Amino acid sequence: MKAMLLDEVSSVEEKPLRLMDFPRPIPAQGQILVKVYTCGVCHTELDEIEGRVAPSGFPMILGHEIVGRVEALGSGASKFQKGDRVGIAWINWACGNCTFCLKGEENLCSKAKWTGKDVYGGYAQYTVVSEDFAYPIPEEFSDVKAAPLLCAGVIGYRALRLSGMEDGMILGLYGFGASAHIVIQVAKYKYSNSRVFVFTRPEQKEHQDLAKKLGADWIGATGDTPPEKLDCAIDFTPVGEPVRQALGNLQKGGRVVINAIRKVTPIPELDYTEHLWNEKEVKSVANVVRKDAQEFLPLAAEIPIVPETQEFGLKEANEALILLKEGRMHGAGVLQITE
Ligand SMILES: [Zn+2]
Ligand SMILES: [Zn+2]
Repeated sequence: MKAMLLDEVSSVEEKPLRLMDFPRPIPAQGQILVKVYTCGVCHTELDEIEGRVAPSGFPMILGHEIVGRVEALGSGASKFQKGDRVGIAWINWACGNCTFCLKGEENLCSKAKWTGKDVYGGYAQYTVVSEDFAYPIPEEFSDVKAAPLLCAGVIGYRALRLSGMEDGMILGLYGFGASAHIVIQVAKYKYSNSRVFVFTRPEQKEHQDLAKKLGADWIGATGDTPPEKLDCAIDFTPVGEPVRQALGNLQKGGRVVINAIRKVTPIPELDYTEHLWNEKEVKSVANVVRKDAQEFLPLAAEIPIVPETQEFGLKEANEALILLKEGRMHGAGVLQITE
């Protein structure tokens, strides 16, 4: 099969992914072989390539927003049939026995494996996964539109859930890329009396236009003071400063959720009185559990979510990642692997 391989930690600008022939995987017991149709391009790939979340082995096939069709079943696999359309997300496997797994927090399992980091992911024509970690894709979505739902969508949904958002509240979104533009659609659907304030970098005109189109009630730059305090906020940016900004703009008792696997710059020093006093909270969102995907995908179809996507061929993955790093991706990047 064709695959884009990462050989070592590198800078994204060096276009480190190589298109190569690679052995097609064979499904083990309980696994399914999936022919990949599309794979989303996620910010986490930048962290993997640049070593902030380094792959556990090389070469690695990145990619954890996979949409494909079941090509073959390993022994004992029975949940899907050949030809079924399935999605694969960031969580690839968890032990099922540790204290975290037993209380439904498999996202915190120390033995968990992550798609495209610990096992081969979706920047390839085929992949394998345990049938327990694959999800049916609602028919409302094309292969391209379904891909960003699997990480940008699912983790955004988790972040919104963890933010403490309720109807009537004001939600702040810092950064408006692949995940935030899906979260605003969920928030507007579930909390129709709420307002959403969006903060972007001043030069990100496309992100501001998209926020307006999707119903943002106020749009400003990171560093601006919004017209009213935020009841909760989600920070999607890769840098540290918005965390302090969000805490400063937060209502008493509010919570900031950080939706980023790593920050490329530190969170600046916080002033206790200004940023934390009055029971303000800050919480990270780490990975996803299967339940997030199982709840979010049908909800996305019901709303229905309309992801903005920019499409690339498999061999254009390097160029897509550079656009993403520069903040120039329009909506979510998706590699189209099989027509
Ligand atoms: Zn991701
Ligand atoms: Zn576990």
